[in-house]
Amino acid sequence: MIKIYNTLTKQKEEFKPVQKDNVCMYVCGPTVYNLIHIGNARPYIVFDTVRRYFESVGYAVNYVQNFTDVDDKIIKKANEEGKTTDEIVNYYIHETLKDANNLNVNPATHHPRVTEEMDNIIKMIEVLIEKGLAYEVGGTVYYNTAAFPEYGKLSKKVLEELEAGRSERIEITDDKKNHMDFVLWKPKKEGEPYWKSPWSDGRPGWHIECSAMAKKYLGSTIDIHAGGEDLVFPHHENEIAQSEGANGAAFANYWMHNSFLNIDNKKMSKSLGNFKTLRDVGETFGYDTVRFFMLSAHYRSPLNFSGELMEAAKNGLGRIKNAKASLEFALSHSSFDALTEEETNLLPELGKYEGRFHEAMQDDFNTADAISIIFELVKFGNTYAKEGASKNFVTEVYKLFTKLTDILGLLYTYLEDQNQGLTDAEIEDYIQKRTAAKKAKDFKEADSIREYLKDQGVIIEDTREGVRFKRV
Ligand code: AMP
Ligand code: ZN
Repeated sequence: MIKIYNTLTKQKEEFKPVQKDNVCMYVCGPTVYNLIHIGNARPYIVFDTVRRYFESVGYAVNYVQNFTDVDDKIIKKANEEGKTTDEIVNYYIHETLKDANNLNVNPATHHPRVTEEMDNIIKMIEVLIEKGLAYEVGGTVYYNTAAFPEYGKLSKKVLEELEAGRSERIEITDDKKNHMDFVLWKPKKEGEPYWKSPWSDGRPGWHIECSAMAKKYLGSTIDIHAGGEDLVFPHHENEIAQSEGANGAAFANYWMHNSFLNIDNKKMSKSLGNFKTLRDVGETFGYDTVRFFMLSAHYRSPLNFSGELMEAAKNGLGRIKNAKASLEFALSHSSFDALTEEETNLLPELGKYEGRFHEAMQDDFNTADAISIIFELVKFGNTYAKEGASKNFVTEVYKLFTKLTDILGLLYTYLEDQNQGLTDAEIEDYIQKRTAAKKAKDFKEADSIREYLKDQGVIIEDTREGVRFKRV
């Protein structure tokens, strides 16, 4: 039984899909005008892992993540760089997908773009006007929050606090009937991209796009809607008002929100200027380290970023990578198949690790605990599934190790890896040359090959079974 903490009810609830064996997920996507920072990378990694987990236990997941490709920030960037908005968004969509791929984040089932969904957006606004849930003032259409009695049900407390403080998150204009009302459609300003509508030549507000796209690709009621916790208000609150208002059905059964990635205990954000791009951090520490780092905390706990913590994460992941290399080495060097008596007695331990891993993941996707169980398995493997163990035993350990690390998407090669560094075949080649040099008593040559490999991040070890290597 999978339990999910639902922001809507503020408690963990048993997951029950709308359609048996299927999960419909909508994860709010980025506004594409810059490279993502590592705070933005957190929801990518977290919700990709949620998806992977569902898939690993037999669900088919329909995963939708939009690209917001029309927005003030995009228009500003295009003007600054003397480019068209199309050029800006096409470039950043490409780069964002590359970043996601480097994080081992699987592509969504659908990646709709707002500019390609205008008909549906306009239709939904029309329905809201017909139902008295929206009104037009001089070409601008607002949502009529007073007409939706459940407005505020997701953000509750946040909303009260915001109302009291009249936050900058609530736009104040004279046209609105109520200060909580928000824009569904707005007229263009000079030089801005626009679309024709019954109200004005203009473009949609931010919130309506997700409601329209979720409906088109996933239907009126979806299983999981997700994003970072800053989206609870106003974005997700407004999505509920729009979707439930227009469709007359519950919008999402589970609302999941990741906590912030912080730097010096403050939210990493573009506007505070305290951000680091994923590119920067990925190139310094490895993209796989970034993924491992994010999953080493529970997604609802704040996570602090620092160089030291990234170093520690790199070392931690290194232990898991070495365990894989050791298991592969033991597998290829094992000289007999059948389990020994000791191994037969140890085998049930594997089932226990697997059971505890699932327990952790089914408890609101506790990846922190899941990773600590992988470390226990690494220790177990290093102790029992090494040289001298039977092939069948090592195979069982290796199968479980691969299964669990794959669910979290931990071990993979990313683009930069493929372009830099030596491949396994190249390393084997150097090892053979070194062995030949040693045989010929050319120790200087042998040492220089060892040093060269070390510079490339490859350590070689002479063992009784032969030479083995590991990447560090
Ligand atoms: P934005 O580009 O600000 O709309 O953010 C894209 C996604 O990243 C949203 O789901 C945000 O909630 C999330 N996000 C932004 N900053 C952070 C952060 N510092 N930590 C975690 N998630 C974040
Ligand atoms: Zn959204």
